[in-house]
Amino acid sequence: MKRIIVKVGSNILTRSDGKPNVTNMSRLVDQIAHLHGLGYQVVLVSSGAVACGRGEIAPSHTLDDTAQRQLYSSIGQIKLINLYAQLFGSYGIVIGQVLTQKDNFSTTEAYKNQRSCMLTMLNNGVVPVVNENDTASLTELMFTDNDELSGIIATMLDADLLVILSNVEGIYNGSPSDPDSRLVPVVEPDKDLHDFIVPSRSSMGRGGMATKCGIALKVAREGIAVVVARGDRPSVLIDVIKNHSEIPCTYFKPS
Ligand code: GLU
Repeated sequence: MKRIIVKVGSNILTRSDGKPNVTNMSRLVDQIAHLHGLGYQVVLVSSGAVACGRGEIAPSHTLDDTAQRQLYSSIGQIKLINLYAQLFGSYGIVIGQVLTQKDNFSTTEAYKNQRSCMLTMLNNGVVPVVNENDTASLTELMFTDNDELSGIIATMLDADLLVILSNVEGIYNGSPSDPDSRLVPVVEPDKDLHDFIVPSRSSMGRGGMATKCGIALKVAREGIAVVVARGDRPSVLIDVIKNHSEIPCTYFKPS
């Protein structure tokens, strides 16, 4: 039995007009359903609630960042989860929604509770679809982003692999838009990431390359393999599992 955590960023799950990117979502669900059928246990950490809610409503007056996050995520999360339920449902796969926040990992009791919740779901063949609870989390007590959350979940569940899917192919030794930059195929656990991170934030989600790298390296040092790859590559998950060295991506070797 192999356990995989798949984290997908807002840029892959939503279009620039704030509507769900049904093509990308449906491709990812097809692949997860395939892996599920092969006996893999998959946890999907899905961003996109805020980006997806933005396309649904024009607030009547100006809202601060927190109010915007709360309003948009409350609306967008339903859209995403309904779509996931439909798409997975077409394969006869039951999904469960886990909306969580930092408090749920901060004491041993809370951590164990969160762990047993996800294990119970997995042991019953349910695919957990996880996101931070953006409506309830206090701004100053939030995860940096869902990359951080997915790393914590990978460690908590003793996963075999964490796959972080975004709109770039992996980690570059310079800015991805610079033609001289090269994709870094493998990162050894003792590597110093300052050699190649160029901090640039995602246009939709909260995170960026620097946090992605930091999290990936930390998780790999805990003995879990991590792959950062492009989420809109049609068979990305299948390709990563078959042989990650045959596709453009960055593989963080576990120590
Ligand atoms: N939880 C946020 C959302 O669903 C995304 C956070 C992130 O960018 O990782 O919109």
